[in-house]
Amino acid sequence: MELQDIKGIGPKSIELLRKLNITTLEELITYYPYRYNIYNPVDLKTIEEEKIVTINATIESTPKLSYIKRNLNKLSFKALTSDLLINVTIFNRNFLYNHLDVGKNIALIGKYNQQKNTFIANDLKLAPFLEPKLEPIYHTIKGIKNNNLSMYINNALEKQSNCEDYIPKNYQEKYNFLEKEKAIRILHNPKDLVTLKQAKIRLIYEEFFIFMLKINYLKSKNKNRKGLPRNFEKIKIEKFIKALPFKLTTDQEKAIEECLQDLKSERRMNRLLQGDVGSGKTIVATTIMFANTQSGYQSALMAPTEILATQHYETIKKIMEPFSIQVELLVGSQKKKKHNEIVEKLKNGEIDIIIGTHALISEDVIFKNLGLVITDEQHRFGVNQRGNLQNKGTKPDVIYMSATPIPRTYALTIYQDMDTSTIKTKPSGRKEIKTYVKKESEIKEVLLSILEEIKKGHQIYVVAPAIQDAEEKDIRDVESLKKDFDKAFQNKIPTAILHGKIKAKEKEEIMNQFKEGKIKILIATTVIEVGVDVKNATTIVIFNAEQFGLATLHQLRGRVGRNDLDSFCYLISNQEVERLKVLEESNDGFYISEQDFLMRRSGDLFGTKQSGDMVFKIADLKKDFKILLQAKEDSAAFLEEQKKKDEKYRKILETITNID
Ligand code: ADP
Ligand code: MG
Repeated sequence: MELQDIKGIGPKSIELLRKLNITTLEELITYYPYRYNIYNPVDLKTIEEEKIVTINATIESTPKLSYIKRNLNKLSFKALTSDLLINVTIFNRNFLYNHLDVGKNIALIGKYNQQKNTFIANDLKLAPFLEPKLEPIYHTIKGIKNNNLSMYINNALEKQSNCEDYIPKNYQEKYNFLEKEKAIRILHNPKDLVTLKQAKIRLIYEEFFIFMLKINYLKSKNKNRKGLPRNFEKIKIEKFIKALPFKLTTDQEKAIEECLQDLKSERRMNRLLQGDVGSGKTIVATTIMFANTQSGYQSALMAPTEILATQHYETIKKIMEPFSIQVELLVGSQKKKKHNEIVEKLKNGEIDIIIGTHALISEDVIFKNLGLVITDEQHRFGVNQRGNLQNKGTKPDVIYMSATPIPRTYALTIYQDMDTSTIKTKPSGRKEIKTYVKKESEIKEVLLSILEEIKKGHQIYVVAPAIQDAEEKDIRDVESLKKDFDKAFQNKIPTAILHGKIKAKEKEEIMNQFKEGKIKILIATTVIEVGVDVKNATTIVIFNAEQFGLATLHQLRGRVGRNDLDSFCYLISNQEVERLKVLEESNDGFYISEQDFLMRRSGDLFGTKQSGDMVFKIADLKKDFKILLQAKEDSAAFLEEQKKKDEKYRKILETITNID
C-alpha cells in the first residue's frame, strides 16, 4: 500500500507531501501535529473578562456580506447562544456566506464585547462542539491545508496503522504504555489532554529508546573493535610540530598525544575532539593525519560545507608541502573529469590526504588503504553518514571534531560511545570578544565602530537570517542589507554577499577576495557559521540575533577574535531577549551551552537540528531529557539481554543499528 492508494491523495498532493518529507504511508501517519487548538465551548454569560473563547450558537438572521476594500470583507449576523442574542462579526469569510442559513447550529471562536453585545469571531465552524475538542495543527506548506493533511492522515489510518513497534515487551508492561497504533491515532485525534500526554510520552520514549540503542550498540561494538596498530617515528612528528608556524598550546599537545596513543594501539580509535571555537583543533587533526601518512595509510577529512573544506584544504596543503605529502580536495561542485581523476588517484594510493565534503562518501570513492577518518563539526553529519565513510577503510581510526561545546550531561548520553579529548585553553594572546546587544535604532553607533575598524585596515562580517525578502516581516535579509550598507558608506567600502544559493565557484571567488582583503564587509547568512578563518576580521554584526540559538551565535562570533587584535560582536535585536545577555557576559562556549541547555529553548540545540539522525519526530532532547535518561538506561539493559537471546528483537536491532 502506497501514498497514492489513499483516498484524496493525487499526483499533485504526492508532490506537496514530498516537500514535507512524506513519501510513505508510515511517514504520513507519523507526521505528528506540533500543537493543538483546544475548543471547549463555554456559556457566554459566565465569561467576565474579554478573552478568546469558543461558543456554540444558532444563526438567527440572514448574514449580511459587505466588501470593505480589496482583501477585506465582513460577514455579520445575529446568533443565539445560551439565551443571549448577540451580534456576530467575522472578517474574510465571504466563502461561508452560502452555508449560513437561519437556524443552523455553528461554533464560533473569538472575543465577546459585553457592552456592544458583539462577538468578533476569528473562526467559525459549521458544526457545534458537543464536547470539548482538540484540533491537531500540523506544519504545512503552501498548497496543502491543515484540513487536507488531517484528512489524508485519517484516511491512511483506515488502511494502515501497524507501524513496527520497537519497545520491548517488558518495558511496555513496566510503564504501562499504550499500544503504538493507539498512540498514533490519539495524536491525530485526541479526545482529552490526559490520554494525549500518555500517547506522546510513549512515542517519545520509543524514539529515544531506538536512538540510545544505536548509541549503546555502537559503544559495545567499539569497545572491542580491533584496529590497525600504526607505526611511525615519534621524532618525525616532533619535527613536523616544530615546523609549524606557532607553538602548540598545552591542551593541543595533550590532545595530539592522546590521538597518537590511539593510532598506535590495536584498538580502533573512536574519539571526539572537542574544543571551543578558535581553540585550534585543525592543527591537531593535521598532525594526526601526518602521523597516519607516516605509517603508510591514507587519511580523509570531511567538512560540512565546501567553504570549510576548501579552507582546510588550503591550510593543510601548505603545511604538508615540505614533506611531499599529496593533499587533494573532493567536493560536489567539481567537474566530472576532475572528480574521476581524484577518485582514480585515491584508488591507486597517489593521494595521501583527501579533504572534502560529503562528496567523500559517494559510492564511487574507493581508497587504497584508508587508515584515518576525521569529520569536522561532526554534529552536522548523521550517524549513518559517518558510518559510510568508515566503511571505506579497512579499519580506519575515527576522530570527530566538534566546535560546539556540549554540556556534560548531554554529552554523557549521545557521545558516550566515544573517548574524548578536550582543548580548553585558547592560543595565547587571544582577547575576549567584546559583545554588545543593540537595537536596530542604535545602528549608527555600530556603523561608526565598523568604520573605525575599516580605517585600521580590518574587516567585517555581517550576518542576517534570510537571503532575500523574508516572508515574516522584521526579518532582515542579506540582499537588502547590502543595499543599506552601501548606502550608509556611500559605496566607498567594498562589500559582497555570500549565501548557500550562490554557486560554489563564485562562493570561492568571494571568499578569496575577502581573505585577500579586497572585500571589506562580507554580508552573509549562517554559511559562515563554522570554521571560516580570516584573521584580519575583527567585527561581526548579527541581525535578528533573537532568531538564533546561543550556540550558533557563539559559533558565529568565533569568526572574529582569531588573533591578538581587539574584536567586537554586535547582536542586533529589536526584541528584549534575556538570553542574549549571556553572550555579553561570557566568551566561554561551555558555559554558554550549559546556559542554552538550562534555558531550554526548543529547536536549535547545539546546531543539532540539521543532523540526520538527531531529528526526532516528536521527542525534544531538552524538554524530554528525563525520558531520554530513562530510555538510555533501558536500552543498555536491553542490549545486555539481547546478547543472550530473542530472535525478533535481534532482527529489529539489526535493522535499526545497521550503520556499520
Ligand atoms: P577551531 O578549533 O575553531 O577549528 P582553528 O583550528 O581554525 O580553530 O584555529 C583557529 C586559529 O588559531 C587558526 O587561525 C589557527 O591557525 C590558529 N592557531 C591554532 N593553534 C594555534 C596556536 N597554538 N598558536 C597560535 N595560533 C594558533
Ligand atoms: Mg574548525
